[in-house]
Amino acid sequence: MQIKLLHDLVEEMAGVNTGRIVDILFGKKDVNEFLIAKKMELTINQVRNILYRLSADGLVSFIRKKDKRKGWYIYYWTLKTEKCLVRLEQSLIRKIENLKGILNNREIKRYYICKPCEIEVNEEKALEHGFTCEECSEVYELVNNTRSIRDTKAKITRTEKELETIHGELEAVREKEQKKRSRANKKEAKEKDEKKALMKAVKAAARKKVADAKKKIVKKKKTPTKKVVKKKATLKKSVKKKVIKKSSGKKNVSLASKLKKKFLRKK
Ligand SMILES: [Zn+2]
Repeated sequence: MQIKLLHDLVEEMAGVNTGRIVDILFGKKDVNEFLIAKKMELTINQVRNILYRLSADGLVSFIRKKDKRKGWYIYYWTLKTEKCLVRLEQSLIRKIENLKGILNNREIKRYYICKPCEIEVNEEKALEHGFTCEECSEVYELVNNTRSIRDTKAKITRTEKELETIHGELEAVREKEQKKRSRANKKEAKEKDEKKALMKAVKAAARKKVADAKKKIVKKKKTPTKKVVKKKATLKKSVKKKVIKKSSGKKNVSLASKLKKKFLRKK
């Protein structure tokens, strides 16, 4: 990682002298904010101000934990590498566009300078003031753009190289993240499969239990126990007895009436 570039980026976003925070956070995870304050020789509020500004752009993330003894929350900060690289990439692209604009102007436009004041103006402005300095009335001199063109071209080349490096780093980080994600996905899929298999086994076991219970009931119906057989038998007997009793009574009556009829007929 281009720590120097990251320094510049942080200072661009959070102010002068804030870039040092990169050295403390880089390559670490969940850094205690009191430790950051101590290392930067700043108050905890100054450190939090810097970190809040960076977290607004997603360059840092935090977790908080309650201090059991003191009862307040302590924040722990982590530099988000991918986000930092993306911001660096954007910033470098902007810088290159700016430099190309400057180069283009230097190549096609004239500039004038007041040497005592060291103030440079474009042609329109110089014309407006009759080619004399607004401040000291010294006559403007035409600027030789050659040096400025050369410097700007060098700056563009350097910045493009930096951008290339950042691209490479960003690709590496993304590849790493991708691998991490695919590993996590695989793990999740495996766990899902295992859960599915477990559920299937549980369901199968439950079905088997129900089927077994049903079989038992059917068996019971088919072959009643001795007790049940005995009970049924005694019940049958008692019913038979009652029926016999009843029917024999009836028989007697009918026999009596038959005899009576016979007797009457004989008479
Ligand atoms: Zn002047």
